[in-house]
Amino acid sequence: MSKKIIIGNWKMNPSSQREAKDLFKSTLKAIPNKLKATVVICPPFVYLEPLLNLLKAKSKKQKAVLGAQNVSFEEKGAFTGEISMEMLKDIGVKYVIVGHSEIRAGGESNLDINKKIKMALSFGITPVLCVGELERDENHEYLSFVRKQIEECLAGVIKSSISKIIIAYEPVWAVGKGSIREASPEEFHEMRIFIKKVLSDKFGAKMVEKVKILYGGSLHIDDISEFLKEDAGGFLVGRYSLDAKKFSEIIKKCEA
Ligand code: PEP
Repeated sequence: MSKKIIIGNWKMNPSSQREAKDLFKSTLKAIPNKLKATVVICPPFVYLEPLLNLLKAKSKKQKAVLGAQNVSFEEKGAFTGEISMEMLKDIGVKYVIVGHSEIRAGGESNLDINKKIKMALSFGITPVLCVGELERDENHEYLSFVRKQIEECLAGVIKSSISKIIIAYEPVWAVGKGSIREASPEEFHEMRIFIKKVLSDKFGAKMVEKVKILYGGSLHIDDISEFLKEDAGGFLVGRYSLDAKKFSEIIKKCEA
């Protein structure tokens, strides 16, 4: 089995740096030693550097790396409130989530995401591209919706770069507070095969063999093994990443 990746998206939590450090420390403590999987914690921007410092101090066992929840597609300049890829690179961020449904909901387009992916690749930061339909329909239009997201978000990405991108299938109806339910492992299975097909059509089957397709959205810990059987490359986890014990259970199941 290939190395799994578990990404914790803290979203706009917790409310203070003290709490962020405490959560990070308890998360690191709960992560097993000699970990095979990669664990990525994505806190709010303001906590990245304090947590990176904590990680340096705990460098005996590098149990986790840090990622950002978003980034600007602009290089630098007059973009009030934005954070650039170069800034993330400078402090040691390794991953960046792009195209999360909560950001798309604010108007982010596939073209914006495409620019972010290219920028991330040029800085050697791994983009985690979130894709997923708003709803499921009997005519399977949701498949065309996801195809369009992938094609537009990855337009102009060169063949040799596709293995440096992670895809997270996050059906919008399953993500976060307003979710209806978790996607079933079978639904993930169908979508994973579909995503691989779309990628293969564009980049060639050989180039996409190693591309990891993660699942995210109201994940139930009891279903993890089923998702892994369906070849999930790992998980993008929202609310459970704010609970060190639950998050570590997810990691342990991926290690088992
Ligand atoms: C997410 O926001 O990416 C996510 C998967 O959230 P949750 O696990 O809370 O559904």
